[in-house]
Amino acid sequence: MQAPSFGGVKIPSGNGKVIRLSRGASLADFGERIDVNPASLVQVVMTQLGEMVTATQSLPDETLQLLGEELNYTVEVVSPEDEDRELLESFSIEFGEDIGSEEDLKPRAPVVTVMGHVDHGKTRLLDAIRNTNVASGEAGGITQHIGAYQVTTTVDGEERKITFIDTPGHEAFTAMRARGAQATDIAVLVVAADDGVKPQTAEAIDHAKAADVPIVVAVNKIDLPTADPQKVRAQLTEYGLVAEEYGGNVQFVDISAKENLNIDQLLEAIILTADAELDLKANPDMPAQGLAIEAYLDRGRGSMATVLVQRGTLRVGDSIVCGDAYGRVRAMLDENGNRVKEAEPSRPVQVLGLTNVPSAGDSFLVVKDDRVARQIAQQREARERFAQQAKASRRVTLDNWQKTLEEGQREELLLIIKGDMSGSVEALEESLLKIDPGTDEVAIRVIGRGVGAITQNDINLAASSGAVIIGFNVRPEGKNSELAERMGVDIRYYSVIYQAIEEVEAALKGMLKPEYEEVQLGTAEIREIFKVPRVGNVAGAVVRSGVIKRNAKARLIRDGVVVSDNLTVESLRRFKDDVTEVREGFECGIGIGYNDIRVEDIIETFEMREKPRD
Ligand code: GDP
Repeated sequence: MQAPSFGGVKIPSGNGKVIRLSRGASLADFGERIDVNPASLVQVVMTQLGEMVTATQSLPDETLQLLGEELNYTVEVVSPEDEDRELLESFSIEFGEDIGSEEDLKPRAPVVTVMGHVDHGKTRLLDAIRNTNVASGEAGGITQHIGAYQVTTTVDGEERKITFIDTPGHEAFTAMRARGAQATDIAVLVVAADDGVKPQTAEAIDHAKAADVPIVVAVNKIDLPTADPQKVRAQLTEYGLVAEEYGGNVQFVDISAKENLNIDQLLEAIILTADAELDLKANPDMPAQGLAIEAYLDRGRGSMATVLVQRGTLRVGDSIVCGDAYGRVRAMLDENGNRVKEAEPSRPVQVLGLTNVPSAGDSFLVVKDDRVARQIAQQREARERFAQQAKASRRVTLDNWQKTLEEGQREELLLIIKGDMSGSVEALEESLLKIDPGTDEVAIRVIGRGVGAITQNDINLAASSGAVIIGFNVRPEGKNSELAERMGVDIRYYSVIYQAIEEVEAALKGMLKPEYEEVQLGTAEIREIFKVPRVGNVAGAVVRSGVIKRNAKARLIRDGVVVSDNLTVESLRRFKDDVTEVREGFECGIGIGYNDIRVEDIIETFEMREKPRD
């Protein structure tokens, strides 16, 4: 069969062959796969799809697929998660599954995250729990913060362990979830009995529910005279958390983190909840797998990564890969700074020996040797690079939401509303929810709201759920706008409610047209008039500023007044040659398709550029 030709480029037909490309692949990758020069592909994309791209630029899924169709290949774009699974499969490793049968599974400790409103006592509670345990003679060394710790408690005469993630708040929790990882089995919701349910209390509940994690409520600060624990119970029923004494199934424990009151009862409530609602088991008898919880670079000791073992047993000497870091476990330390040789499921340990510092939420796994670890790490690193580049082209924004919708990807526009005052947040939410999109097929859902700057947590939640953030009189805190940019999260800023409503409504109805602004390109002064047969008057001009480009929009100005608008630079010549542009200081012939031109008139050229919305 003859090779089809695309604007002079001949590329053999793929004959329907299936090729797989990583998300964010470039034409160079595509070319390599089908053994075609990437420059030819650049040309095909330009002539057939009308897109200007470079050979090394990351392309959206759609472009890769359309190009495939043109060339008669079936392109499958593979997501990073699938790719990672396949990468591991190519080494005969399955991540995330316990090996073996039901009998191989042994009970494991619940992993707990403490959440709640600021100042309600999360940090104090985490300290109290750890100290009670140290005091009971559990450990000898110096207690140090490694990101998680494990304690022992006695329930029904049986010794039980609980692992606490030592970073209070839902930030770490959502950051991990945004990356598809989940460490937490149970959330302890701390509510100060003198303060009651507050915005972050509600937020924490949202997060726990979204992750399907059972909640145990710790009603804190009951030592205070103004404490009203019953009121907290009443308030929380509105959020679907009903205490057992009110006929519900949520454990409430009244505590004082400060006075160490009822800490044991809280631990017991956690165990009871785990036993009642979860069947926490793992196979300790396999190569260890789990998650990195926290990591940093220590000057003397190198990479220090706290990992949570989720299945298997981690041992000193194991070859391990964690995200794109790898190495051999040189030593392991527990939360008391003691060296440990083994870590069983649900056990957090600090690992020494990785080549570099993994990120929180990276998965880790033990592999058979260092070489495999290195290969996996390097391939992940390369993939991560791709994915980062691709992200920018796959953002959910108010502008492209309608398109996303048409592609059947989303029927709800998810919003996170942050504002300067709770009144304005409520008002905005209420108004947004009243918008009638004129069809049942789309809807708005507010998945998060709060008062104050846009936090890392908001951005993580937006990234993990594909939501758009509405900032009402607030801005991202610190480096968060860069983070949002990196994670491809769209943040919209408003200071007037109706504007926010208008834009969201427009997005829902698919009418959010891009705004354009005029950008001046250059001006030229007319020195002479030439009459050209069949064309009309052409200006002999000198470029006064900028550049005059062929096909640019133009207007004619006489004595400072616009004589004619809506013109185009139809012809542009230097001497006898047609040119595409002429720079400042040079003479040229300009045809603007307008006859009434005079010497000393100014031709002003400009183009319309899409204005970034902000
Ligand atoms: P976080 O922001 O939730 O981590 O709150 P902290 O643990 O930092 O506690 C905030 C403040 O409340 C600190 O001044 C604590 O000492 C105090 N606090 C914490 N728990 C209790 C408690 O049980 N009783 C009293 N009276 N104060 C507490």
